[in-house]
Amino acid sequence: MNFDDFPVSALMEITTRPPVVFVRGEGSWLWDHADKRYLDFVQGWAVNCMGHSPEAITSALIEQSRKLITPSPAFFNEPSMRLAQRIVEHSCLQRVFFTNSGAEANEGAIKLARKWGALNKNGAYEIITFDDSFHGRTLATMSASGKPQFQALFEPKVKGFPKAKLNDLASVERLISDQTVGVMLEPILGESGVVLATDKFMQDLRALTQQRGLLLIADEIQTGVGRTGKLWGYEHSAVEPDIMTLGKGLGGGVPLAALVAKENVSCFVPGDQGGTFNGNPLMAAVGCAVMDAVLAPGFLEEVQARGDYLVKGLSALSGKYELGEVRGRGLLIAMELKRDIASKVVELALDNGLLLNPPRPDLLRFMPALNVSTEEIDTMLEILDDNLSRAIGS
Ligand SMILES: *Cc1c(COP(=O)(O)O)cnc(C)c1O
Repeated sequence: MNFDDFPVSALMEITTRPPVVFVRGEGSWLWDHADKRYLDFVQGWAVNCMGHSPEAITSALIEQSRKLITPSPAFFNEPSMRLAQRIVEHSCLQRVFFTNSGAEANEGAIKLARKWGALNKNGAYEIITFDDSFHGRTLATMSASGKPQFQALFEPKVKGFPKAKLNDLASVERLISDQTVGVMLEPILGESGVVLATDKFMQDLRALTQQRGLLLIADEIQTGVGRTGKLWGYEHSAVEPDIMTLGKGLGGGVPLAALVAKENVSCFVPGDQGGTFNGNPLMAAVGCAVMDAVLAPGFLEEVQARGDYLVKGLSALSGKYELGEVRGRGLLIAMELKRDIASKVVELALDNGLLLNPPRPDLLRFMPALNVSTEEIDTMLEILDDNLSRAIGS
């Protein structure tokens, strides 16, 4: 089939897409409508942590779909309880509410914090967030985001999200008032280019929020579930958030996300929160399969080793072409290009059968499957080497 034969025009145009229709995937590889093969270092935006269509996920889907797809969120189902139990056992938090997207999990975190503020802090509702942060695309999560492109969109915004500067504790302190209920941040700003909150900042922020009686909310939608080489991003700085949100990798490719909270913050009562598909057994069964894989002995050490290998290779390319910093944690890595050639490199790579993501005009982000092989990393580096030389030469 040719690209022109596909009925493209019935879809709303919400992004500019290349003229490629993906039809199947396996591990780190994707095939398009013309059976061209691509090495995938985007993986659904850090979603397919086990790669495309891994056996563990397809069999969880098949087995669970034969048993029970959904009984209604008003009834218990076994996979959702099992998955919640696994998250609780392996985190510093005790209660889980499942959602269908990361934005919905953050929306729930905002509601939970506001409810907690109503009960404990005279109705304080403001949540301090950060410049250049990304928390989702619902009205409240766009308002919470510090993405400059969101600022003029869909006014009026939801109020109550003053913005501080990452790694600048004084900028947080200045915004605290008697209306403040918490601080929400990504341990690594993902969408704005893999910018790390320093361990010291995380620790100081935890101390400050504790001192002032404020909630610390970690948006771990991109950093959670092994992406950074530890199960949760907050472990790197050894601070415990009061609320954590998960998404992306949790479902390994299916729509599954979660709002996770400490027992003493978990103050929803019946009627406050819900949703038709939330915690359905089909997606929860997949989440269980993902958690089993990520928690398997040695898995996270391997993620760290592949991450180090990727950083080493990218640093060599950065040296060769006089590019900028290579940074990140685990398999969430970015490379500064120091010139606005990211889209050009991505375009050349697509041509050569490699999928890359340019979150900024001068930066590339790498988020392969967590089980990517060193050979696949080598192949990616070879193609990238060629693309960089062409993009810089032209
Ligand atoms: C992707 C992402 C979201 C939004 O998740 P969706 O599933 O797209 O709604 C929120 N926060 C962070 C940090 C993300 O990376």
